[in-house]
Amino acid sequence: MEVIRGCAECKRLAQAYESETMNWFRLEGHLRIAEYGRDPDAVSRIASELDATTRQRNEVRAAIEKHKHDFHSGGSQTNPLAMRA
Ligand SMILES: [Zn+2]
Repeated sequence: MEVIRGCAECKRLAQAYESETMNWFRLEGHLRIAEYGRDPDAVSRIASELDATTRQRNEVRAAIEKHKHDFHSGGSQTNPLAMRA
């Protein structure tokens, strides 16, 4: 995920995105194990957690896009517009 150097909000959002991504991979691994072990209860529980994580991750991604649009319009890395207000 591309971030704007020196922007605390970009850094925070990038870290949130990374942690949701790690979560997603972890759950995905658990899901494979539950499927392999033919444990339908665990599969449905993990699948719904995976769903929630996917949504969270999409929300963080949308927040990154919105933040970049609002504060770094044009995607300039050298001239952030965060000070315009
Ligand atoms: Zn930023």
